[in-house]
Amino acid sequence: MMIVMKPDATEDEIGAIIERVEAAGARAHVSKGDEVTLIGALGDREHVARLELEGAPGVAQVVPILKPYKLASHQLRDASVLEIAGRKIGGENFALIAGPCTVESRDLLLSTAQVVKDSGAAMLRGGAYKPRTSPYAFQGLGQEGLRLLAEAKEMTGMPIVTELMDVRDMEAVLEVADVIQVGARNMQNYTLLSEVGRSGCAVLLKRGLSATLEELLMAAEYILKEGNERVMLCERGIRTFETAYRFTLDLMAIPVLKELSHLPVVVDPSHAAGRRDLVLPLSLAAAAAGADGIIVEVHPDPEQAICDGPQALRSADFADFAAQVERATALAGKAFTAAA
Ligand code: PEP
Ligand code: MN
Repeated sequence: MMIVMKPDATEDEIGAIIERVEAAGARAHVSKGDEVTLIGALGDREHVARLELEGAPGVAQVVPILKPYKLASHQLRDASVLEIAGRKIGGENFALIAGPCTVESRDLLLSTAQVVKDSGAAMLRGGAYKPRTSPYAFQGLGQEGLRLLAEAKEMTGMPIVTELMDVRDMEAVLEVADVIQVGARNMQNYTLLSEVGRSGCAVLLKRGLSATLEELLMAAEYILKEGNERVMLCERGIRTFETAYRFTLDLMAIPVLKELSHLPVVVDPSHAAGRRDLVLPLSLAAAAAGADGIIVEVHPDPEQAICDGPQALRSADFADFAAQVERATALAGKAFTAAA
């Protein structure tokens, strides 16, 4: 449940409520707004139900949070605006995230990084650890890939989004990542989610191939529960009966997630489509529908790409792509975030 304190509630009154919540075996999550303080009482339903806080000094209202996710719920707070190395995402701020599927070589990474930066991308993506369907496929450059990402960050000043698949790589990934990507296949890897939560690093949490929005929000809750509030949700296409394209991009997830949750919503049209020609129309639709960002794959020579070449935008086309997306963001009252 959520306890809404009166605008003139004193620190002592707020402290007393927190004490009562904790004494009942629940956790108190405090958010201090400009006007009022909200205290989320999180825990087993029975613990929380026993709390009778209606009418306690300083309490204006007690509102039940009916959803199974609490910290991710929009009931807890207004839309979150996250700051990633000076780039904002959420609210009126739209972040374009772009780069290769995987880090292949120094030249390819650095040249792609420069192209996406020059066209207004806020962050650079690139996987050093790759979740591949086949165990015989290229699995990423690992530590060497991370080293190259660090060089790209140094050169462009862009924050890095990169995937973590295994907690054993956490330390190395944290040295370069500004945002840890949790891939679709790991959305329900709860030990990984908790560790990523404890790391305190911002997270891009991708929706599982056949996960419901509630399951996605429950996965986000695992990260938030560890005290890490910098979580972005990512719609990347779900599996349906349709075979004409790789996955089906669930555009309805954008307004619905934004209704259910305060967390920023990012859309990945590249992995949904699996085809370059669909990436622009899907990006425009996502931006116009109110997404807080999009993440796309870009490669200077997609025919030679080690993975996901068919869906990669060509570097040479990226400036035009970015300009069109920027125009679409205005339809939803947003603008590209600028580097601080
Ligand atoms: C990726 O972003 O390169 C990736 C593998 O994405 P997903 O987990 O959505 O398949
Ligand atoms: Mn990819």
